[in-house]
Amino acid sequence: MQSGIRFVLVLTFGVLLGAGPARAQDQHQTADAQPAAKTLFGQATKAAALAPQAIGFYSRGCLAGAQALPLDGPHWQAMRPSRQRMWGHPELIRFLERFAPVAAQASAWPGILVGDMAQARGGPMLTGHASHQLGLDADIWLKPMPVERLSQAQREQVSSISVVRADRLDVDPATWTAGHQAVLRAAAMDPQVQRVFANAAIKRELCRSAKGASWLRKIRPEQGHDYHFHVRLFCPEGETQCKAQDPTPEGDGCDASLDWWFSEEALHPKPPAKPTPPLTLADLPADCRQVLEARGATPTTPEVLP
Ligand SMILES: [Zn+2]
Repeated sequence: MQSGIRFVLVLTFGVLLGAGPARAQDQHQTADAQPAAKTLFGQATKAAALAPQAIGFYSRGCLAGAQALPLDGPHWQAMRPSRQRMWGHPELIRFLERFAPVAAQASAWPGILVGDMAQARGGPMLTGHASHQLGLDADIWLKPMPVERLSQAQREQVSSISVVRADRLDVDPATWTAGHQAVLRAAAMDPQVQRVFANAAIKRELCRSAKGASWLRKIRPEQGHDYHFHVRLFCPEGETQCKAQDPTPEGDGCDASLDWWFSEEALHPKPPAKPTPPLTLADLPADCRQVLEARGATPTTPEVLP
């Protein structure tokens, strides 16, 4: 109650000072004691001990019963482990275990480097990524996995490589390889994959070299995504709280709609007039509160893989 009164006072004071609505909103966030959901979910280090479930939408939801991707597999290595973003829905873990050898074989790479997935309970993140909240998204580096196992320190420090030219209009022939195309194709061909996000310059190159291929439909142009691409899985079957994304539009997406991504407006977007306020717990599905409050699952011994 007290905080409510304080809120009204702060709000009144702000308006009297002529601070305007933006200022009043800032005050609201501090005075109303509604922490940003990213702060709450960013603190979770253990999965919620609940049955696995993706709750909400990819950019507005959370994850119960997450599993951690083992840091090493026969054809993958997980990067930036200190970020604690190697969690996913069990379906995503199984997908990566299945996809890594397929990608390796298709590209003749030793394997893939897996970047950010989700937090232990999904939800918004303190930095980066509007999505990755359901444990159904994973970033895969556009850099082949080395044959040797990277040390803990290397996993934190080694950088990926950009495959996009400095002018952003095409791929960089110095770094783009047939292996990149093979890995992207393998991802898009997987029936569990809903969308693959990659830089528009990558899409442009694929439209040229794989013209007419049906898998191009799933490769969606995006800003960024030049050091990694992003795989998004469909909602797991029977999980009614998982909100599906619209199907990808008909066609290969190699038409005039792709050209927009190379316009001045897309390449140098104007910053928004005012920043979007961060999501609070009230903005997420009601069950995300339970996910946050659930007991932490006892970590299982990571799988020992050859
Ligand atoms: Zn991503």
